Amino acid sequence: MFRALLMDLDDTLIKSSQVYDRALEFASYYLAAKNNLSLNEFFPIVKKKDTLIRKNFPTVHTRHSRILVYRHALDEIGAQYSLSDLPAAEDIYWEFFDENVSLYPGVVDALKKIHEAGVKTAVVSDGDLRGRIRKIEAVGLLPYIDQVFASEETIFEKPFSAIFTLALSKLNVKNTEALMIGNNYKNDIQGAQLVGIKAAIFNPEVDGHVEGHDPEVVADYEFNHYDQLPAIVVE
Ligand SMILES: [Mg+2]
Repeated sequence: MFRALLMDLDDTLIKSSQVYDRALEFASYYLAAKNNLSLNEFFPIVKKKDTLIRKNFPTVHTRHSRILVYRHALDEIGAQYSLSDLPAAEDIYWEFFDENVSLYPGVVDALKKIHEAGVKTAVVSDGDLRGRIRKIEAVGLLPYIDQVFASEETIFEKPFSAIFTLALSKLNVKNTEALMIGNNYKNDIQGAQLVGIKAAIFNPEVDGHVEGHDPEVVADYEFNHYDQLPAIVVE
């Protein structure tokens, strides 16, 4: 039995990928309407900037910044926008995301069982701490989560070891006593294994988003539905 369960958040507990593009468009619509821009012209620029920001800030949480995406897009299209539009667009983006994101089936039941068995539960996720906690709260998971660790706290994102070692030390467990679950072979599975934490890949039949494939990375466990997880963690 493991003493701690470390969990990736996006596309592991919640179906994030499905909502990102819709949120990006929703906030773009707000900015376009406010600044008399054509959404058909503006949104492709926003999408391009979103890709650029992710590429230009690898391994640090800046790559998740939506405020920079909108600033760069508005600048490129030459809009005379108010600075207050920028945080407003970012707020609209994340409010849309939090209202529309959903959990994978069985997450709550699995976490309840694991938590009741005395296993510590923690989210280990790239991005800012505020955003992580907001997402977890939005889907009603906060009662089953003991801790949240964000890459903002350790500068570098997964697979760098700092966020994993921070989680182990705060939860007061050894590497061999923890299990990491995630949807990304490189960031979640290899990242955990590099510090001696066993790792399980989540590969659901519906709405799956497994990424970061690497032939050299082999997960210690694989599960495709959350009803399989308590047995892996508790037994
Ligand atoms: Mg993920």
